[in-house]
Amino acid sequence: MGARIIDGKAFAAGLRARVARAADRVKAHGITPGLAVVLIGNDPASAIYVKSKGKAAHEAGFHAFDIRHPDTLSEHALLGQVAELNADASVHGILVQMPLPKGIDPNRVIAAIDPLKDVDGFHPLNAGRLMRGEYGLQNGLVACTPLGCMMLIKDVLGSDIAGKDAVVIGRSNIVGKPMAQLLLHESCTVTMAHSRTRDLPELTRRADIVVVATGRAEMVRGSWLKQGATVIDVGMNRIAVEGGKHRLTGDVAFAEAVEIVGAITPVPGGVGPMTIACLMRNTLVAAALQAGLKQPEI
Ligand code: NAP
Repeated sequence: MGARIIDGKAFAAGLRARVARAADRVKAHGITPGLAVVLIGNDPASAIYVKSKGKAAHEAGFHAFDIRHPDTLSEHALLGQVAELNADASVHGILVQMPLPKGIDPNRVIAAIDPLKDVDGFHPLNAGRLMRGEYGLQNGLVACTPLGCMMLIKDVLGSDIAGKDAVVIGRSNIVGKPMAQLLLHESCTVTMAHSRTRDLPELTRRADIVVVATGRAEMVRGSWLKQGATVIDVGMNRIAVEGGKHRLTGDVAFAEAVEIVGAITPVPGGVGPMTIACLMRNTLVAAALQAGLKQPEI
């Protein structure tokens, strides 16, 4: 086993500590960053995510607003809630936890969030700015998971990754597409793959960087990967094991890949912790943007 196991948990802890220190500098201007997390319904996984986001906000020294509604809430009422948070000067970041109950259009809700408070980076304006190259690793409100992946890639490969061949598997708006844009922003040669891609192993075997976000447990085999490649596994799949128990696994066959690649994120403990740390980073950036302050160096 020669690969470096990328310790996302440790990197995320460092990032959160840097965010907390930078938050002190913003607070010196009389602004305490505030993050509102809105949860509709009782989905157990969503409830866990929301709880850890609130906890991380407290630890960063932010105000955390935990807003809950039953799954009978109408789209109209949710849009009203978003409008209220948009108008609340103590709230700098708004996150509406997905998935939303049936009958509520997530795109309409995302578009209703003030782009300056869009700490998920999903609003069309922020997604568009990323696509235009106005946002990168250092600035703007960029979707948290790909932002965290990019930080890990740079930690492994250094700041100059120009010219590297990168393959992103998965083209969702929350992971695959923004990930590809960030890699392009760094002048990588990017291939986006998806369920209709022909001969995926042939593509990944040429890649220096492979980011996998498919939600297909252990889909990417070791034999698909190039020696020395950097592999970022975004997948989080709960698979049944003996005794009625479950284990969390990624989209990459870790035990095979680790024998071949240069560096790889484990699941759990890789990308997951980075997502929450980047949410804290985005909340601080949002607070600074709204106050007209320079974007904090984190
Ligand atoms: P998603 O919206 O379901 O998108 C999955 C993508 O994978 C789609 O573009 C799909 O292609 C592609 N795909 C599916 N099967 C494929 C195959 N056999 N070959 C090639 N491509 C294939 O998923 P997502 O929201 O991006 O999430 C992906 C995974 O990341 C999930 O396991 C999720 O739990 C995890 N995740 C983790 C974090 C974190 O913080 N760690 C955050 C977000 C997501 P088509 O477009 O052609 O259908």
